[in-house]
This record gives sequence, C-alpha cells and structure tokens, in this order.
Amino acid sequence: MTTLTPHDLTQFCDEFLSASAFNDYCPNGLQVDADTPITKIITGVTACQALIDEAVRQNAQAIMVHHGYFWKGEPAPLTHMKGKRIRTLFQNNISLIAYHLPLDAHADIGNNAVLARELGLDIVGALYPYEKYPVGNIATTTPIRAKDFALKIATTLGREPLHISTNPERLLTKIGICTGGAQDMIEQAYHMGCQAFISGEASERTTHMARELGVDYFGAGHHATEKGGIRALGEIVAKRFGVDVVFVDIDNPV
Ligand SMILES: [Zn+2]
Repeated sequence: MTTLTPHDLTQFCDEFLSASAFNDYCPNGLQVDADTPITKIITGVTACQALIDEAVRQNAQAIMVHHGYFWKGEPAPLTHMKGKRIRTLFQNNISLIAYHLPLDAHADIGNNAVLARELGLDIVGALYPYEKYPVGNIATTTPIRAKDFALKIATTLGREPLHISTNPERLLTKIGICTGGAQDMIEQAYHMGCQAFISGEASERTTHMARELGVDYFGAGHHATEKGGIRALGEIVAKRFGVDVVFVDIDNPV
C-alpha cells in the first residue's frame, strides 16, 4: 500500500465532490493538517470533541466530517472549546477534512441523494434549477398520505420527525428535500409546486410558513438527515485507497 497523505486524500475528495465550485460558509477540504500518513479514518457528522476522542481511542490519523470548523462569522481565537478540539487533533497527529455544501449536493452520494433513496423518493430536479451547483432537490413519490410519510421517516431514520401539517390525510406526490438547516427553503419548495418539504431542523417561523404556504413540513433532524453523505464518502475513500474507515455516530437529538 502506498502512503496516503492528508493532501492526497483531500485532493481526491475535492475532485470527487467538485468542492471548489461551491461558495460555502466554511473552507471545504483539509482544515487541520497533522502531516501524518493515513491508514485509519474516522467519519462523522460533526467534528465535536466526542468524535475526536473516539478517533484518538481508535488510533486514527484523520477525521472526515460534514460539519468542520472556521465558519463565517465565528470568533477566530483557538481558545476554550475550539482550542481544546484543535489541540487534541494536533497532539494526536490527526488531520481534519470537512465538506459542507459539496457533500449536501453531490448527485450520487450527497446527503440529499442518500436521504431521498432511503425514503424511496425519486429526485427529479433541483429546488434552485438556475444555480450552477444547486443544493436542495425536488423529488416525486407514488402517492402517500402525509401522516404515512411521517411514519416512513420515523422508521427509516429511527427518529420521529416534527410534522407540521394542515391536512395529514392529503396525498403527497411531489416533495422538496434539503437536509440540515434548510428550513427556509420551504418557500422555494412552494414556488416549485411541492406539496411538502423535508429538512433537518425547524425554526419558530417554519410553523407559520408551512401553514400559510399550505406546504407540509417535515423536520427529520439535522444530524439524522446528514449522516448519509459522509458515510458514503468514507466508503468510497476506503475502496479507493484501501484504508480502514469507520463511521462513528455521536448521538444528537437535534
Ligand atoms: Zn448541516
């Protein structure tokens, strides 16, 4: 096996996900470079301390996540919580690689694509079709009652969704989908003729938007809807480079 460096791994993922094409809220790719050859990778949704501690325990040299660090507007100093996370990474020679929007949007292994497949939905287009690399999709399904679709989400994700409905008996055939904190895209889903919209988490205003737009809203969990993409990327990396990749699910009810 040839040596896999953090840069080689990142270069492969950057190209696979067309990462440079996205205008994102955080840097995509290599965020913390420990400059150590990689034989074991931990994947997870968020680079929280618990995930890092598990990577240390499992002697991994890299962590790959959907939610990394250095978000627009976040305080820059590496102190307190943020300082401890990054200190733990460097002290244990662990690199951090993160992909945000490129991992939501990928047509095959993106969070939206994976969630749609899991829920038996067929993606037929983009929520914002005029953008070059749009995030968020429109999907169709064989007619299903809104309350039955809520049950399907619960059994598929192992978590009961928040369902805001004006008529739980209505038949859904066209559903907007965007994982994570995409609740405000419910308005675009309405403009695109969807009867329902699924995202991760909701805001207080989401209730009123759903009722007034007449679009059923399903809040299926930010964490729960964003496990699929990073897990699938890990599987591709494992196959491509012959390294050991382990997905670690740090429980998060939100
Ligand atoms: Zn997210």
